[in-house]
Amino acid sequence: MSRLILVLGDQLSETLSALKSARKGEDTVVMAEVADETAYVRHHPKKIALIFAAMRKFAQTLKEDGWTVAYTQFDDTDNAGSIVGELLRRAEQFEAQEILATEPGEWRLINALKYAPLKVHILPDDRFIASHKEFEDWAEGRKQLRMEYFYRDMRRKTGLLMEGDQPAEGKWNFDHDNRKPAPDEITFEGPLRFEPDDVVNDVLDLVDARFANHFGALRPFWFATTRAQALEQLDHFVAHGLAKFGDFQDAMLNDNRFLYHGLVSTSLNIGLLTPLEVCAAAAKAYDDGKAPINAVEGFIRQIIGWREYVRGIYFLEGADYASRNALGHTRDLPQVYWGGATGMNCMAKAVGQTQEEAYAHHIQRLMVTGNFALLAGIDPTQVHEWYLAVYADAFEWVEAPNTVGMSQFADGGIIASKPYVSSGAYINRMSDYCKSCSYSVSKKTGEGACPFNLLYWHFLDRHRDRFSNNARMGNMYRTWDRMDEERRETVLTEADALLSRLDAGESI
Ligand SMILES: Cc1cc2nc3c(=O)[nH]c(=O)nc-3n(C[C@H](O)[C@H](O)[C@H](O)COP(=O)(O)OP(=O)(O)OC[C@H]3O[C@@H](n4cnc5c(N)ncnc54)[C@H](O)[C@@H]3O)c2cc1C
Ligand code: SF4
Repeated sequence: MSRLILVLGDQLSETLSALKSARKGEDTVVMAEVADETAYVRHHPKKIALIFAAMRKFAQTLKEDGWTVAYTQFDDTDNAGSIVGELLRRAEQFEAQEILATEPGEWRLINALKYAPLKVHILPDDRFIASHKEFEDWAEGRKQLRMEYFYRDMRRKTGLLMEGDQPAEGKWNFDHDNRKPAPDEITFEGPLRFEPDDVVNDVLDLVDARFANHFGALRPFWFATTRAQALEQLDHFVAHGLAKFGDFQDAMLNDNRFLYHGLVSTSLNIGLLTPLEVCAAAAKAYDDGKAPINAVEGFIRQIIGWREYVRGIYFLEGADYASRNALGHTRDLPQVYWGGATGMNCMAKAVGQTQEEAYAHHIQRLMVTGNFALLAGIDPTQVHEWYLAVYADAFEWVEAPNTVGMSQFADGGIIASKPYVSSGAYINRMSDYCKSCSYSVSKKTGEGACPFNLLYWHFLDRHRDRFSNNARMGNMYRTWDRMDEERRETVLTEADALLSRLDAGESI
């Protein structure tokens, strides 16, 4: 009996469960570039190019390895336009009775497969360290689902940075040594930039012709699109960037977009790399004395800790997670997120680099664009859709918990024990943005006062009922309450005026 093996654009791993369960020579692998997947949000052109180019190359690798692959290009005239449509068409063509699929990374597609008029077997995605069952068991009966404890279990499970049953160098977490302000000089030259080959150039022409109206610059395009390139990118980072990853993980600079970051999320999230091999490469650098514990532990924690944890939350919480809005925020996403003019240098830099690179590092996403959206009370669904569209590494299982949960507190505190909000002082400490801003970070009110300073207090004031009893926020409220009443009035009035200008579509 002939079967179809579905391989999605973020499932480009030869070890994929659907491929492992398939019969080479008998079953047909189905891969398709479909309109529906480019349109549920208006993805950045670089993201579409990354996925299509990597899919085409992966299909070629499978063919060379002896697989029969039915590949549909975006412009093929008989392209059905959706994953289920393509499966129906191919099932008829190959007289296939059954479909094997690895679980997609979002509820939208899981449900599309579940309710398709086809016999689809959905297999677990075992490219992760924790299965759904393991995460559910860990979460069972806990009042709070704190990442740190889950992470320790993942350390024990993988044996990474373990000395017997104890953590290497006696501590689970070395963040105390990390998070230094921006350095004067960056010694890492940044990620490798891969020259587009013929396959990439064909895809770039296609994306240029069909998606030029999406937000973001298509060229220059240099992402890794094969496993070999992804491994090269990883080796380059481990050899030259990793040692200082921890120190400057949270720093931001006007003139350096990548600092000591790995740029491995795109490759990890589409399946070119596995989380364990990325962590093993970092752990080896530690064992070889090439990178210190604070850097390697910090890096590994992001992957076997945060990455696995957010996936666990996404699947544990269910299909409505991405639409939650615990704080009742309803303001429309302002134009500054789409490159609209602004005097706020930090926002201009974070959005500008997002537009050009389809990349911003964690602190830019969390403490600049995320912080501003939260302080300004933007509708979290719009914020979620923005992050899902504009980053090349954005897939709902990882993006939604980071945005809706960690960044916007819209899940009511499942991921974050307090909202990630700050005034301009934090951005000033961690970056050189404020030095070239038209606002003054030291001004709390009046002409030229930093918008983060005004909105920070406005946020705390309007959510007092929810947060004033939060033990981790007591100091913030005490500081606010100590200000004299007139000053508090001025802050709130000026913040309201700022928000009215945003609502009127004015640039700020
Ligand atoms: C609002 C918001 C949205 C985000 N959306 C995404 C997203 O769509 N896709 C995505 O992969 N990451 C997302 N992140 C997490 C993080 O910003 C990116 O993983 C990271 O910037 C990727 O760049 P890098 O490879 O250079 O990472 P590095 O800084 O070099 O970190 C190494 C790796 O750790 C993993 N990692 C680090 N932090 C996280 C995290 N919080 N959650 C999951 N994995 C993490 C990534 O795989 C990353 O490649 C988001 C964070 C925030 C605050
Ligand atoms: S002054 Fe405020 S708006 Fe300007 S860069 Fe600093 S934090 Fe951003």
